[in-house]
Amino acid sequence: MTEQTADVIIIGGGISGTSAAYQLARRGQKVILLEKRFIAAGGTGRTGGIIRQHYSNETTIRMALHSLKVWRDFDAVVGGDAGWRRTGALVTVDQRDLEGLKANIALQRQVGVQVDFLDAAAVREVAPYLNVEDVGGAAYEPEAGCADGSMAANSFAARARDLGATVLQGVTVTAVTTAHGRITGVETDQGSFSAPVVVNAAGPWGARLAATVGFDVPVEPSRHQISVFHQPAGALPTGHPVILDFVQGFYLRPETGALSLVGSIEASEAANQVDPDAFDEHVDMDFNLDMANRTEHRLPLMGAARVGKGWAGLYDVSRDWHPVMGHMPGLEGFICVFGWSGSGFKMGPVVGEMIADLATGERRCPIDPHPFRFERFAEGDLVRGQYAYSIIG
Ligand SMILES: Cc1cc2nc3c(=O)[nH]c(=O)nc-3n(C[C@H](O)[C@H](O)[C@H](O)COP(=O)(O)OP(=O)(O)OC[C@H]3O[C@@H](n4cnc5c(N)ncnc54)[C@H](O)[C@@H]3O)c2cc1C
Repeated sequence: MTEQTADVIIIGGGISGTSAAYQLARRGQKVILLEKRFIAAGGTGRTGGIIRQHYSNETTIRMALHSLKVWRDFDAVVGGDAGWRRTGALVTVDQRDLEGLKANIALQRQVGVQVDFLDAAAVREVAPYLNVEDVGGAAYEPEAGCADGSMAANSFAARARDLGATVLQGVTVTAVTTAHGRITGVETDQGSFSAPVVVNAAGPWGARLAATVGFDVPVEPSRHQISVFHQPAGALPTGHPVILDFVQGFYLRPETGALSLVGSIEASEAANQVDPDAFDEHVDMDFNLDMANRTEHRLPLMGAARVGKGWAGLYDVSRDWHPVMGHMPGLEGFICVFGWSGSGFKMGPVVGEMIADLATGERRCPIDPHPFRFERFAEGDLVRGQYAYSIIG
């Protein structure tokens, strides 16, 4: 392959890379996106796809809200289908976390999120089939929903192509190239590509790539599972909202075909560190059983649910459960965006805009990525949420 030149090379065809490619192409930048397998082959294609705004610090709430406005009108704003469905979301806590939940709701409302506090009785009005005996209260986001990782990333990639970007699948970046403290491009298994700016959006592989140019980024790949349950026939005729259950540390989201997708929100999940190129992509029977028990406790009518085919995917977990996003110090033109720690899908739309700002030096996106800079780890200025015991941010 002959050498190719661009303004910006993006490594990785997940939601972060494809959204960035789209935004940069919109701004007239010559973009080459390199994906080693296929679009959405990483965490994006395995995502639970929950799109909530329930975060506990202002920056991430603003990012989620900004992105929601794109998700719910994806075809008009971006073009194409992201599989968006509005379902609403309930975030349930026990008495212990009630004050924290109320504080978060107040912060979310200040930022502009449509969210209400519900006591246990009011939770039953939204979802009469829930067992609320151990629920102290809940946040209810009527505007929350779900989208499809593969559809969304492919739509972003298609729109980027329409706008002139080159999107190459089956091309593995083997090295980032530099000269005199500057980025010059990348080497791949199919030749070299040059650009003054390289965006490392390689998700669970991102830290390995950054290490090849001397950065020790505290992000580790770990395995996370999703159980799929067939709702008993006719049990939930209008489906159910997304349920993020802090009481039991798990989540449940509705899927088309009367399915429910169920996963864990316990921080201990990060201990399942794996080689991202060789891990078990199936769901364990023990996990199915555990999730079935938690599901039945919260939704007793799911006791008769049938277990379907689940899967396992990768999180890229950082030391503070927040991403690294920004220019890497001492190497001009090298931008990293990975380490989403299991909650990066919903942020895809805004991340594309933030990366486009970083790559071009413009400031079109209202949200500043400064809190996510790599240097925060050395400075001890970690990004903290209220839910320190959970992976929810
Ligand atoms: C089971 C599960 C459930 C989740 N649930 C949710 C949820 O409900 N809501 C939510 O918001 N988030 C959720 N997430 C997290 C979310 O899916 C991820 O944070 C997000 O999709 C990450 O996108 P990304 O583009 O940063 O990385 P990825 O999607 O991992 O993309 C990285 C890409 O880089 C490519 N790549 C790697 N190395 C190279 C190389 N050397 N050369 C070329 N290409 C390379 C990979 O093949 C991959 O396609 C979940 C994740 C999992 C696994």
